[in-house]
Order: sequence, then structure tokens, then C-alpha cells
Amino acid sequence: MFKALLAFSVLGTTLGNAHTDLSGQKVCRIYTNDSSKLVEEMRQVYGGEIDIWAKNEEFVDACVPADVASQVSGCNVMIEDLDSAIKETYPQGTTQFSGVQSTFDIATRKVHDIFFEEFRDLDTIYTWLDLLALTFPELVKIEWVGQTFEGRDMKALHISADNREMNPDKKTIVITGGVHAREWISVSTACYMIYNLLTKYGNNKKETKYLNHLDFLVIPVFNPDGYAYTWTHDRLWRKNRQQTYFPRCFGIDIDHSFDFHWTGAEDIPCSEDYGGDSPFEALEAESWNNYINETKSEYTIHGYLDLHSYSQEILYPYAYSCEALPRDLENLLELSYGMAKAIRNKSGKSYTVLSSCQDRGSDLKPGLGSGSALDYMYHHRAHWAVQLKLRDTGNHGFLLPPKYIVPVGNEAYAALRYFCEFILNPEL
Ligand SMILES: [Zn+2]
Repeated sequence: MFKALLAFSVLGTTLGNAHTDLSGQKVCRIYTNDSSKLVEEMRQVYGGEIDIWAKNEEFVDACVPADVASQVSGCNVMIEDLDSAIKETYPQGTTQFSGVQSTFDIATRKVHDIFFEEFRDLDTIYTWLDLLALTFPELVKIEWVGQTFEGRDMKALHISADNREMNPDKKTIVITGGVHAREWISVSTACYMIYNLLTKYGNNKKETKYLNHLDFLVIPVFNPDGYAYTWTHDRLWRKNRQQTYFPRCFGIDIDHSFDFHWTGAEDIPCSEDYGGDSPFEALEAESWNNYINETKSEYTIHGYLDLHSYSQEILYPYAYSCEALPRDLENLLELSYGMAKAIRNKSGKSYTVLSSCQDRGSDLKPGLGSGSALDYMYHHRAHWAVQLKLRDTGNHGFLLPPKYIVPVGNEAYAALRYFCEFILNPEL
């Protein structure tokens, strides 16, 4: 019997001297009810930009040099040794991770889970997508969304059973991962969702129903340049890698670049939140705008799920202002709490539901929530939209070790299933 076997091996990226030296840095949690004031104070002590990992009404998590940590009163050290925490997130063994095998058996349509044992670099992920397209040719199309500043391709996976009798309106769910480069768990989770939808279709009632009645557009790596950079240079890079008007500062925060209530969140190009000089200056946001509105104009986007990390939160629109009320707030809350409950039932983990504006602090400082993908999609294209901030609550922060890929994938997938059920509910 014919049995085709495709295999590929990952010839690794060497973690060499090119990496930003982060030894001596620590991550502090500082409790405060005035995060903006605290961040400003830390800037003064440090004499420059501070890398804020998370902030809310109770605390700020900041990555700072050890001497700054010792000068900030109330620094509870969350990550003592940043360097080793970073190393733990890369594939283990040697710095050269060659020989990792992943196989796809076309005859039995089996996709081995080994892919999810470690985080994967961009080339490996793109190869994996190609192999999925070969393994599930009737369900998967790889589409080109655009090109990045450094010339990489932005790729979307269109998953569809092409069942136009059952899905005449081309109802679609869009899932994006990796908008922020260092949030690796959002990339692996997007891949995990793809994997589950494809391998369960035809074998499991629910997935068969979802794919018969819905199309899925998944962009696992929305920020390919930034993601590649986290593998070769700086594990904690967040923005894209675009040149700004200031020669020494690279990168635009894609999630501040969309043309909906864009205000130019921070005018300093070196800052982590820099939203560019004009809306859609980030090439990824601009390409996405063209792709979704031109290439995909016939598709009706019923759901948008934007994956980020960390803090275990489910955020609903709007991000730009707490005074702007979303339409259908009651149903949007039902959706968000339903997703949180699905996660709790799956893994016991608690995810907090709140408005994105609260998470961003846009009621304290207007502009902090400007130009987000969530608001843009909710306002222009998607009937329902949520941002899912994955694990954890701060012990590892952005440096979640790979052993959490599958557990986080499972709980997030439970949330996606709830989202699908919600959309397919004829009463809504
Ligand atoms: Zn993010």
C-alpha cells in the first residue's frame, strides 16, 4: 500500500553572540495604584526607557537592571535570572538544535505532536504550514498577505471545507498570533488551533460541524520580522523591525498602528508602544488591511480572536476609550465569560474578563489604547472580537517554558470551541 512519508529536520538557529546581553536584569512586580507615575519615576532613576511587561490598576511588572531594581522601593522580584529564564524557552539540548524531526504521514493523515514539544522558529513554522497544505489539500490553502520590511512573507492559512451549501455567507473566524514578537505562546497556540481543527475534522462531530459551517483564517505569525529577531538577537523584542524616522530606533508596535482612533500612542520611536508617524505605517497592519478588505472582501467575519500574552485575560472592545460602549455589550460579555468558563472547565485556570481599555489604561492616559487590531477589526469587519491574553500571571511572563505549549493550547482551544458554538448559535 502506498504510504508517503514526508520528513523535515530543523537545522537550528545558533544562539550566538548576536544576542542582546540581558544578564543582570530582573523582572520586578511593584504594587501601585498609579502605574504611570511609577513608570515615570523608574525612567528617572534609569535615565531611559523602561521595558514594562505588564501593568494594571494594582501593579506594574518591569524588566530593569539589577541596580535599578534595588533602588525601586517595593520591587518584588518575579524573575531573578533573566538570562537563564530566556535560555529555557529555546529548544533544549545544545545551542544548535539540529535533528528535530517532525513527520507527516499523508496516507494516515497523522501529524505527530512532536512539533509542540518546543517553540519553533519562523522557518520551521512555515515549513510545517506547507506540510499541512500537502497533508490536507482539500481543507487548507496558504495565502500570501504581504511582505515585511525585511522582506519576509506574511502568511495566512485559510481553512475551509468549502461547503457553500452549509456556509453560503462565507462566515469566517479570524485568528491572529504573534502580533507582539516576544509572545511566543500566542504563536504556538495559533498553530495548536490549526492542528486541532484539521486533525479532528471528519473524526469528531464538533470540528466537523465547525468546518462545515465556518471558514477559518489563521495568521500564526503576524509579525515575522519581529519573531525572527527574537530567535536571533533579542528574545524580548516586541515590535516589528521597521526603520523609523529616528535612525537608531527600529520598530513600530503593530498593535498601535491600525487606523481606528489612531493617535500616535507614543511619539518616541524607541519606545515599546511606538505606533508610527501615521496610521498603517506598520507594513504588517497595512498589508492586513488590504488582504482582509480586498482579497477577502466576500467573507463575512463573524469572529476575531487575537492571541497575546501574558496575564490570563479575556479582553473585549474597545481599547481606545472606556467611554465608548461596544454594540451588543451584553452578548459580548456572554461570549467573554463563556470563553473564560470553557477554559476553567478545561484546565482549572482562571482568566479575568475585562474591557480592553481598562487593561491598556486608556482611561488614565488617552492614547494608550489607540490603533489596536481588536478595535479596528471589531469596528470594521468582525461582528464579535476578543483578545485573549494567555498564561501566565507573571511567574514566567513572556518567558513561559515550552512544557506549557500543550496545556495552554488545550485551554485556548476550549475557548475557541466556545467561540464557534456562540457564533453558530442561531439565536444570535
Ligand atoms: Zn501583546
